[in-house]
Amino acid sequence: MSKPDPFAIPEPPAPPRQIFVNRTLNLRRLQAIGYDMDYTLVHYHVHAWEARAFHYMQQRMVQQGWPVGHLTFDAEAVIRGLIIDTELGNLIKVNRFGYVKRAQHGTRLLDYETQRRTYARTVVDLADSRWVFLNTFFSVSEAHMYALMVDMLDAGELPLARGGYDDLYKTVRDNLDAAHMEGQLKADIMADPESYVALDPDTPLALLDQRDAGKKLMLITNSGWEFTRRMMAYAFDRFLPAGTTWRDLFELVIVSARKPAFFLERAQLFEVVSDDELLRPASLPLEKGRIYFGGSASLVEEAVGCSGGDILYVGDHVYGDVHVSKSVRRWRTGLIVRELEGELEALQGFRAEQGELTRLMEEKVRQEYRMSQLRLNRERFLAGRADFEVELPTLDAEIARVREGIVAIDEQIRPLALGSQLLGSPRWGLLMRSGNDKSYFARQMERHADIYTSRVSNFLFETPFVYLRSHRGSLPHDGGALPNPHNTD
Ligand code: IMP
Ligand code: MG
Repeated sequence: MSKPDPFAIPEPPAPPRQIFVNRTLNLRRLQAIGYDMDYTLVHYHVHAWEARAFHYMQQRMVQQGWPVGHLTFDAEAVIRGLIIDTELGNLIKVNRFGYVKRAQHGTRLLDYETQRRTYARTVVDLADSRWVFLNTFFSVSEAHMYALMVDMLDAGELPLARGGYDDLYKTVRDNLDAAHMEGQLKADIMADPESYVALDPDTPLALLDQRDAGKKLMLITNSGWEFTRRMMAYAFDRFLPAGTTWRDLFELVIVSARKPAFFLERAQLFEVVSDDELLRPASLPLEKGRIYFGGSASLVEEAVGCSGGDILYVGDHVYGDVHVSKSVRRWRTGLIVRELEGELEALQGFRAEQGELTRLMEEKVRQEYRMSQLRLNRERFLAGRADFEVELPTLDAEIARVREGIVAIDEQIRPLALGSQLLGSPRWGLLMRSGNDKSYFARQMERHADIYTSRVSNFLFETPFVYLRSHRGSLPHDGGALPNPHNTD
């Protein structure tokens, strides 16, 4: 076999596999990179995982006497980035300003008028406990179960329910929480990882490169030791050089980290001394190869001897992984957004239509400008403030002609605009967009994640030496350098 050619430079990745940059990040300068595990280093088949979680949540509730045994999980019903309105029993999609742009009550989509009436005065602020943001794929089963049970509550089918929609939410939340904590759900995943884990051979290789480039790699996960050990071995070991395991990659491994509290508070650090999770207080200095439990980000900073901008933390949870690590510890942050791959492919497929839509919108703006000017002239004429060469009927005829032109453009726009709304989830559209604007999810991501990308293995293409530069930020007036949109020529 011939040896690889070091001068053969691979093609840069296609957009779905690129790393996108909100704030410039020089990987060369980083000393440490921390990784979350679930949905970051290890990706799951969301439908299978959430169907299983739904099953155990349902089983628990049936045991408690809730008549929910007939409910079935629909993986397409909910996307992450939505927000539960626990006061009204709704699921909503919100734009970057906090305005509600789409809403369903229970499982029923609200018509535009009802939605407008319900939320006309509302600006969503996540600091208010009324709102529950769906931060990760783990929230999908919970939100769908809640929607189904809101329908049942409305139909008077939940005699156990004592309070309103907010109380019902607590019931669902507690049961999903318990399903995650109890052994059976995780035992199912561990017994049959083929059905749940989406393998990616390039993820371990990307980490190998980073480690060999001198980065201190850390695994910081909320999962317990047994689950972590089983998932990491399944997803990593087969792709690593013979005789090595995932544990050789990491300088520091922390399980049961309790993020977001991990970033907010100081907590005692333990060492896991046996595979059945016997713990003892950890003694410093921390040692590579040992497994730690709990602790806090400040302890990590002391242990690896770096802080703030020296550390990049990469995770999929918008709040627990990137928001708090940035706002409290000032770590650099990377968000994993697997949905990007599907969304970019959908946008790619819609490119010709999008071009046509943009062209038609520009034409509409020009015609509307013309229309406004003609109407103003008519008013000035009627007020006796202008004297024109033409008579009023001629002016009116022109106004009617332009109006018809705008109606004709609208007819061309309608199917294209509808097509653009159908990209992504049929009910909720694209994760990143809300109507013509950025979604609330996109705004959160922009604020808290320095970089974002669909999966960790995208670092493999970029190398540990990449200087990730942000684009020049755009503002509405940036188009000032472009031709006037009202130009009718
Ligand atoms: P990480 O993403 O690696 O930090 O860990 C995610 C862990 O949190 C997984 O073990 C999940 O089972 C667990 N998890 C996710 N949602 C919940 C919940 O609502 N309650 C308790 N554990 C959860
Ligand atoms: Mg995670």
